[in-house]
Amino acid sequence: MTRPFRFLRDDMNEEQLENHQLAGIRWTLEQAQHSPQYRKKLDACGVTPHDIHTLDDVRRLPFTDVEDLREGYPLPLLSVPESDVVRIHASSGTTGKRKILAYTQKDLDTFSLQMARCYEMAKLTPQDRMQVSVGYGLWTAGAGFQLGSERFGMMTLPIGPGNMEIQLQLLSDMGTTCLGATASMALLLAEEVERNQLKDRLHLRKVICGSEMRSEKMRLAIEEKLGLEGSYDIAGMTEMYGPGSAIDCDAHEGLHYWADLFFIEILNPETLQPVAPGEIGEMVVTTLCKEAVPLIRYRTHDLSRLIPGRCSCGLSIPRHDRIVGRSDDMIIFRGVNIYPGQIMEVIGTFPELGGEYHVELTRDDHALDHMKLSVERHSGSSADADNLLAEKLAKRLHKSLLARVNVQIVDPVTLPRTFSKSKRVTDVRH
Ligand code: ZN
Repeated sequence: MTRPFRFLRDDMNEEQLENHQLAGIRWTLEQAQHSPQYRKKLDACGVTPHDIHTLDDVRRLPFTDVEDLREGYPLPLLSVPESDVVRIHASSGTTGKRKILAYTQKDLDTFSLQMARCYEMAKLTPQDRMQVSVGYGLWTAGAGFQLGSERFGMMTLPIGPGNMEIQLQLLSDMGTTCLGATASMALLLAEEVERNQLKDRLHLRKVICGSEMRSEKMRLAIEEKLGLEGSYDIAGMTEMYGPGSAIDCDAHEGLHYWADLFFIEILNPETLQPVAPGEIGEMVVTTLCKEAVPLIRYRTHDLSRLIPGRCSCGLSIPRHDRIVGRSDDMIIFRGVNIYPGQIMEVIGTFPELGGEYHVELTRDDHALDHMKLSVERHSGSSADADNLLAEKLAKRLHKSLLARVNVQIVDPVTLPRTFSKSKRVTDVRH
């Protein structure tokens, strides 16, 4: 099924896509030669564009990492003359200096293209009205949502986050049909709409959620409270222009990404070797047409997987899954790689359980590792069924993680609250 798309590309078969990607990788290697920082790395590995014949040859190329961005501060990995740079964006580093990324005009065109594709995937039209309620400034979010929306031809309302009163007023007065916001902001707004019984006065039909992952429960709550036709998760990071490198479709079976703009590898973060098809690993990105700061095997440290096969929406545009965590959070338990996001996903399938959990890893006198998982019971559930519930959860975890977990159900609001995923794991093995 091919629809006449304005921005999406669904016209390449596997061989054509591979040739397109190979040409993009070779072009990127040429482009990177203009950066002394990249030249040093590439010279050291001795691979030239002429050595890239198959996509497997990419594995001969060196990795880039956040360290390279810091090292080249303030204009890291810059592969064009500074006079060709028309825009700067930055993302906050958790430690030290900000990551600053430069854009040429062509990079901004690609940035707006990837966002326009997301809007097309969400089945918006130029008649839609887009309220941009994500952050503006050095962040890429606001700029990306706005650039793409204008290119797509929608009336665009650049409001930025917060200020619930103005959000609600413009939603109502301007007849906004699509909202771009973080999931927590969208949920806050949805609750406000519900409290003030405004649903019938709004024309909102779609929400696009950026920059934080939300659970299925959250998605349904936002859709129901706002009376939406659909809502979508958008992926992206400053290094990949910003938001819009992928989005889910109405099938919600993963996020379609733009394989003509990015070559994505999924690697085991320990060995840096490819994982088996469909398995979770670290996303490593090589850009195919990025001018100012091309990426060569950039380690995102985000964990996800490529989804094999074709989406039930009918498009052949490839997909990756949601981000399930950071590679730094990976637990190696009895030779199996486990990510906290996977544990959370299994817990989420039990309505009797709350969302809070804690993992403790210990090693016994026989050098055998043990994993204890404490999960809070849902506040409405009775403690009578705890043993049965623990058994059921352990079974499902075993099936999904291929690891034996000792499960303990605890009372609601007894585990420590934390916003950091890594704090949910205590590892006392030594
Ligand atoms: Zn799809």
